[in-house]
Amino acid sequence: MAKITLQNVSKQYKGGEIQALKQINLEIEDGKFFCLLGPAGAGKTTTIKLIAGVEPLDSGKIFMDDQEITDLLPNQRDVAVAFETYALYPQRTVRENLAFPLRAPLRKKEWSEQQIQARVEEVAKLLGIDDLLDRLPRQLSGGQRQRVALGRALVRKPKAYLFDEPIAHLDAKLRHRMRGELRRIQLELGITTVYTTPDQLEALSLADQMAILNEGKIEQIGTPSEIYQHPANLFVARFVGDPPMNILRSEVQGEEAYLFGQTKLHLPDHIRSKLAAADIQRDLMIGVRPRDIKLVAPSSEQALLRGQVKYVQVLGETSILTIVMDSHEVRIKMNTQDAPNRGEAVGLNFAVQDCHFFDPRTELRLD
Ligand code: ADP
Ligand code: MG
Repeated sequence: MAKITLQNVSKQYKGGEIQALKQINLEIEDGKFFCLLGPAGAGKTTTIKLIAGVEPLDSGKIFMDDQEITDLLPNQRDVAVAFETYALYPQRTVRENLAFPLRAPLRKKEWSEQQIQARVEEVAKLLGIDDLLDRLPRQLSGGQRQRVALGRALVRKPKAYLFDEPIAHLDAKLRHRMRGELRRIQLELGITTVYTTPDQLEALSLADQMAILNEGKIEQIGTPSEIYQHPANLFVARFVGDPPMNILRSEVQGEEAYLFGQTKLHLPDHIRSKLAAADIQRDLMIGVRPRDIKLVAPSSEQALLRGQVKYVQVLGETSILTIVMDSHEVRIKMNTQDAPNRGEAVGLNFAVQDCHFFDPRTELRLD
C-alpha cells in the first residue's frame, strides 16, 4: 500500500504538438479509491501510463510514499495495471495470462505452482471467467477479454492498482456488478487504487476521492459529494450530474438577478459581496440542478419561471422533462407519477439556496 504523488507532471506527444498533461498535481492517499474522471482525450490513460512507468514524462516528479519513482522501470514500481485495450498475450491461454504476473522473475520464489493455480482460479471465479481458463484471447468476446485483463491485475496484491476504464466494454448489467465487486475487493484489501472513467456516475459511486481532468488539466479534486455539491467551475458543473445542471444567464441589477427578463431573484449576501469582489456588474451565470426545480401552477405566485413541456422522457420511477421558455430550455427531474403531459404550461420554482453562482468570464464558482 502506498500514497501516490504527482508533482507538476507534464507530458507531450508528437514533439509538443499535443499537450496531453499540463502541470498536473495530485495526491492519492494511501488505501483510497481514487477516480480520474474526464471526457475522451482528457489525459486519463496518459496519467495511468506515467504512474505505471510505461511512458516517460517530460517534466515533473512522481512519488510512491516518500520514494521518488519517476525514473524507475515499470517492474520496479510494484503496481498492477489493467488497460482498456487489453494487452493480453495472444498465444497464451486465459489461465496462463492470469498466472503471468505471479511468475514474473522478480516474484519467482514467492508463489508455488499450487498457490498460483489456486489464486488464478479464485480470481477467475470472482470475475465470472472460470469456464474460459483454457481458451486463447482470440476465442473471447471483448467483454471477456476485458475481464481477463482486469483479472491479471487482481491476481497480485501490489502497492497500487491502476485501472484504466477497466469495465468500459462490459454490458450494462455486468458493468454494474463488476463495479460493486471492484469496490468490495478494494475495501477488503485496502490497496490504493487509481481508476479512470469517462462516466460521472461511475466515479461518483466508486470514489473516495476524485479528480476531474479536462484537456490535460485538473479542474477539481474532492470527494464525490464535494464535487457534486460545490462544482468549482462551469465545466465541472456541466460534466458531473445527469442530466447536467441547468445554467441560466442572468442580469444583475443591484441586489437582484433577472432571469430571462421575467424573474427577479434576490441574491444572498455572500454572493453579493463576491460579485463586488469579482467586479461583476451585469452578467451572472446561475446553475440549478434538474432535481432542485419544482413544478408549480403557472398562475401561482411561486412560479419563478413559466414555460411549456416540450418532452417527457420516462426513466422508470423518475422522468426527465424538457421545458421551453422563449428560446431557452430547462431540464427537470421528477417522479414519473407527478409528471405533466407534453405541451402543458407549467411554472417552475427553485430555492436560491440551491443555486450555484458562476462568473461568466472566468467560469469559476463565486462562493
Ligand atoms: P484519455 O485516456 O482521457 O481519453 P489520453 O491520455 O489517451 O486521454 O490522451 C490525451 C491526449 O493525448 C489526446 O489528445 C490523445 O490524442 C493524445 N495522445 C495519447 N497518446 C498518444 C500517442 N501515443 N501519440 C500521440 N498522441 C497521443
Ligand atoms: Mg483513455
